[in-house]
Amino acid sequence: MTTDTATPQQHEFQTETRQLLKLMIHSLYSNKEIFLRELVSNASDAADKLRFLSIQNPGLLDGDADLAVDLVVDSAAGTLTIRDNGIGMSRQDMVDNLGTIARSGTKAFMEQLSADAKKDAQLIGQFGVGFYSAFIVADRVTVTSRKAGETEAHVWESTGEGSYSLEPADKASRGTDVTLHLREDEKEFLEEHRLRHLVRKYSDHIGLPVRLKIGDKDSETLNKAAALWTRPKAELTDDDYTGFYTHLSHDPAKPLTWAHQRVEGNLSYISLLYIPSVAPFDLWDRDKSRGLQLYVKRVFIMDHGAELLPAYLRFVRGLVDSDDLPLNVSRELLQGNRNVEKLKAALTKRVLDLLDDMAKNKPEDYGKFYDVFGAVLKEGLVEDTVNRERIAKLCRFESTASTDGSRVSLTDYVARMPEGQSKIYYVTADTPAAARAVPHVEGFRKKGWEVLLLTDRIDEWVVMHLPEFDGKALESCATGGADLDSAIATPEKEKIETEFAPLLARIGTALGAKIESAKVSSRLVESPACLVAPDYGMSRRLEKILKQAGQAAPALPPVLEINPDHPFVTRLQNATDDAEFGDLAAILYDQSVLAEGGQLEDPAAFVRRLNALILSGAKPAGEASRIIVS
Ligand code: ADP
Repeated sequence: MTTDTATPQQHEFQTETRQLLKLMIHSLYSNKEIFLRELVSNASDAADKLRFLSIQNPGLLDGDADLAVDLVVDSAAGTLTIRDNGIGMSRQDMVDNLGTIARSGTKAFMEQLSADAKKDAQLIGQFGVGFYSAFIVADRVTVTSRKAGETEAHVWESTGEGSYSLEPADKASRGTDVTLHLREDEKEFLEEHRLRHLVRKYSDHIGLPVRLKIGDKDSETLNKAAALWTRPKAELTDDDYTGFYTHLSHDPAKPLTWAHQRVEGNLSYISLLYIPSVAPFDLWDRDKSRGLQLYVKRVFIMDHGAELLPAYLRFVRGLVDSDDLPLNVSRELLQGNRNVEKLKAALTKRVLDLLDDMAKNKPEDYGKFYDVFGAVLKEGLVEDTVNRERIAKLCRFESTASTDGSRVSLTDYVARMPEGQSKIYYVTADTPAAARAVPHVEGFRKKGWEVLLLTDRIDEWVVMHLPEFDGKALESCATGGADLDSAIATPEKEKIETEFAPLLARIGTALGAKIESAKVSSRLVESPACLVAPDYGMSRRLEKILKQAGQAAPALPPVLEINPDHPFVTRLQNATDDAEFGDLAAILYDQSVLAEGGQLEDPAAFVRRLNALILSGAKPAGEASRIIVS
């Protein structure tokens, strides 16, 4: 090689790396011991990668299959070395992995930095930039590495201040040595009891031995060295499970709950599934790969096994270790593999069981879960026809029966339906406050019937895919359904309809193509009018959402329902002048659009009409109070 000369080459860190290093050292200082967890975890990943690649290429092991991590203390030199015999790094690997943060999330990460040390420290964990934590305790870090299957080795060195050097090195065997030249006041990390304690605390569950070697003493294995999920449940404490969760997920928050299961039979596997308590920053990023870790017969195969759980359970973290898949399974093979499908069905059921259990036995935790992931879970109503009923039972909605923002289940709703109510009624809007204020709900409230307030965007699709629950149809308060009308109608309805027929016809003429027709409403109490989607038409909110998303929505004109008891309607009835009648009808229409949270086609005209109406005061109808609209 001519490029790697005897003088070390200096390389500049990527700007982002530099910023990150600085931040890392400052914000993580209060929790500096985590550097060991991060470096041991990297070493363990390196061993996993080697084990995986050696399935296809056994030569890579080169007669040394005892994978382990050694912590080597040199008190005289003041160094701690984390040594592994894993996959190792080539020169280019070192440039890519240690000199840059080549992760797509880096930019997003930098944007989210808040200068709040505690929050930033949590972010660092989520984004997995663990190697750099070495600089919290070391003023110089030397990485010597030789990649499995190669003969050349290289040494990378940096003080963490803007540049690093890279040059050829001698190394007898494959793997990586990360040597920390500890800062003067961090020499505690050379002490046996400190290291022993840290390895127990953070790395007990790692599936390979972590050994300690101090000076000339024999090395000693510090951890259990058995992958946590292979150990019997009875042996494991809550701390073991949460510690393993941190290792697996990089999520510093504790999980809400978990399920650890060993299944033997025609499908044999171990699963360890966690329900997190906080959402990852990119929960809604569709391109983000996620999913469980997949192991086959204890060998790590892949992160993000997206085929192992449906998308609506993408918040679940954990792993599955299968005995029935081939070791050389690839992503392509996972798709359409019958065992994988069976596994997916079983894991889905397991997660739903876990959620059921939490909902029943720890409702407060379930509430926390639902706050964060409820909208994701609801996608299951659309996506998973097999488990729809179960998922519906797990859903929670705000309703007119509660004012404090608490949610009800469909089961509770049905249980307290009064005599005479045969359906589950709901209204959709952008916020619970807006939903409560929608005129369509007034009649139901007066009658004492509970209405569910659906405010997630996904809810429009949910109601399309959930036509009924427990034998009760779901119906919107804002559709023109005839049975809804008769359900809440008063006995005098027919009489009123005949009486109002001429007014309705006149409104129809005045508003023209804007409405399908005008009707007398049973659902209004305080409001003068509301718009309802015609029978079998698309809901008006869905229409709005589709339009916002730039999709064509076949807009059918709505039905305008009027409140026969409202003074505004009386005023309409008394308007003899056609122009005045037209303006009043237009205002009635526009305010109905506003009341359901819609946008006016011509807001300026609405304002002019309204002002003219207000300024006309008590003047008698006629020429004098004519409203001039351009
Ligand atoms: P992460 O571990 O979350 O990917 P790090 O900053 O800790 O992020 O490490 C960056 C990359 O450097 C790793 O993804 C890996 O490719 C490489 N690396 C770090 N430590 C080792 C090691 N001991 N052996 C081999 N590769 C390593």
